Amino acid sequence: MVLVKFADLPCRVKAVSIENEDGSYTIILNSKLNYEQNVESFKHEINHIDNNDFCKECTDRIEYYAHLK
Ligand SMILES: [Zn+2]
Repeated sequence: MVLVKFADLPCRVKAVSIENEDGSYTIILNSKLNYEQNVESFKHEINHIDNNDFCKECTDRIEYYAHLK
């Protein structure tokens, strides 16, 4: 299961995917970006989740987001 949320992320952060404790995922899209950009980010993140293979850039963003909390 994948949940989608919007958050006011820094401009350089397009989206963040987080694996939840129950095995579901949350994709956080940047509310600063427009619809088309968010659709692209969403597809990118969902691909990672499907393949369970996160690219370096996205892993860095997850780290970055973790530090924000
Ligand atoms: Zn990626």
